[in-house]
Amino acid sequence: MSVFPRISLLPEVHEHLKNVFLNKELLATVGQPEAESRFQRLLLCLSHPPRFTCVRVSTHLAPLQEIRRRLAEELQQQWYGSPAAVSVEILLHPLIPDVLLLPVIGPRSLVPLGSEVVVGAQCGSAVLRGAHVFAPGILAAPKFMKPGDTVSVFSDVDGRCTRGSKLFQGNKVFVGNGVSEMHRATIFAQEPAKGIGVRMTEPVYQSPSFDGVLPSLVFLQNLPSVVVGHVLGPRPGERVLDMCAAPGGKTCHLAGLMHNQGEVVALDRIRSKMDVIRQNAAALQLTCVRAFCFNSTQAVTSDPGLLDTEGPPFPPESFDRVLLDAPCSGLGQRPSMAVGWSLKEVRSYPPLQRKLLHAAVQLLKTGGVLVYSTCTVTLAENEEQVAWALHTYPCLTLVPQEPHVGGPGLPGAGLTVDQLTVLQRFSPELSDVAPPLSTEAPPLSTEADRDTIGFFIAKFLKN
Ligand code: SAM
Repeated sequence: MSVFPRISLLPEVHEHLKNVFLNKELLATVGQPEAESRFQRLLLCLSHPPRFTCVRVSTHLAPLQEIRRRLAEELQQQWYGSPAAVSVEILLHPLIPDVLLLPVIGPRSLVPLGSEVVVGAQCGSAVLRGAHVFAPGILAAPKFMKPGDTVSVFSDVDGRCTRGSKLFQGNKVFVGNGVSEMHRATIFAQEPAKGIGVRMTEPVYQSPSFDGVLPSLVFLQNLPSVVVGHVLGPRPGERVLDMCAAPGGKTCHLAGLMHNQGEVVALDRIRSKMDVIRQNAAALQLTCVRAFCFNSTQAVTSDPGLLDTEGPPFPPESFDRVLLDAPCSGLGQRPSMAVGWSLKEVRSYPPLQRKLLHAAVQLLKTGGVLVYSTCTVTLAENEEQVAWALHTYPCLTLVPQEPHVGGPGLPGAGLTVDQLTVLQRFSPELSDVAPPLSTEAPPLSTEADRDTIGFFIAKFLKN
C-alpha cells in the first residue's frame, strides 16, 4: 500500500530517468506499457521504505543464532510497554549467513495526535526506518513544547522549513506520533542539543530503533550492501582495498569475512569521515583495518619517491581484491520523498567513477577481483560503466557473483544478455512482480531480496 506521493525530482532529472527506464533496448525487451508501469512503480517505491530492515551481524564474534536470540531479547525490552508492543519477528536469510531480517510493520493508518514537529527530510527518512527523532533533525516545534508532550512528526519534503520555526505550512508528510523529550528552547539553543528530541511511539512504518542495540554485534546495513562484501569474497591473509570507504560499513564487513587476518586498507577523501570508519572498526574489534584520508583517483603511483611505507599512494598491483563502492547520484536510496539534484549534478558522477575505476584496475594484482557498486539506478553510472570498463581494459572480464539474489542488469548499454545476467541490479520496482517460474530450480530470491534500495553490483576478474 502506498501512503506517500511519488518521489519528487526536478523535471530535468525526472525526464532523464524516464529516458533510462524507457530506453530502446528495454522497450524492445518488455514493451512500452510494462516499461512505463515499471518507471511509475520505481518513483513510488523510492518514497517508501523497504518492507524489511536488514542488519548484518558480527559472526566473527558470536554465532548467528546467539546474536539472533540476544537481539530478540533487546528488542522485546525496547518495545515493552509501548502501545505498539508486538513480538519481534527476526528472520534468517536462506543464502546470506550473516544477516537478520526484520519485517517492517506498516503503513499503519494513524491520525496525527498532537501539535506539529517538523523534521528535515533525512531525519524523516530515518524515522521511517525505525529511528527516533534526534534533536539536530528538528526544524520546527510548537512554541511551548516541553518533555512529555504528545506531538505529531512531519517530514519537510522540499527542504523549505527554516530551523527554529513554530509552524510550517509547506510541503510535508506525516511520519508518525511521538512524545517530546526536550523543551523547544533546548532544541534551538545556541549550543545545539544532542540526543533524542522526540521518542516515536506510533511511527507510520514500525521498525525497531537500533540506536545503542548490541553495538558490536549488529550493524544496520541495506541487504545489497551486505551482498557486496560476499561478492568480493575476501579471504583471511589477503590485502584488500576499499577505495571509497566511509562510514566503513563494507570495510568492516570485509575485515570480518577475513576473520581480522590480513589487511583492509580503507580510503576516503573526506577527513571528517575517517574517525567514523575507525570507530566502527574499533567497535567491531577489527584491528586489521587501516584507514587513510586520501583521494583514491590518485592512490596509485610508480614513482618510488612518492611511495609511503605506511599508506597511499601504492604501487600498481598492490591488492588481491579491490572494492569500489563508488560515489554516485544515490537515486536508489529509500525512502526518499524528494531529490533536489540538478541534471548537471547527476551527470557529474560518471567521469569521477571512471577515474576511480582506472586507479582500481591499476592497483589490482593480476588474478585479483574488482567489485564495482553503486546505490543508484541510472544506466550511466552502472551498466554503461561496465561496458566502458570492458572496452577500456581488455584485462578485465565480467564474472558471476555469489550470492546472486538481485536481478540482472538493465538493457540499454549494449551489453549482451550473458553479461547482463552476471550483473546484479536490485530493482525495487520489480518487487511485486513474481519471479519467473523455473523448472530447473526454485527461485532463490525472497521478498526481502527484491524489496530493497535500488543498487548495482558488477564483479570483474583481472587477467
Ligand atoms: N562504502 C561505504 C560504506 O559502505 O559504508 C559507502 C561509500 S559512499 C557510497 C562513497 C564515499 O566515497 C563517500 O564517503 C565519499 O566521501 C567518498 N569519495 C568520494 N570521492 C572520493 C575519492 N575521490 N576518493 C576517495 N573517496 C571518495
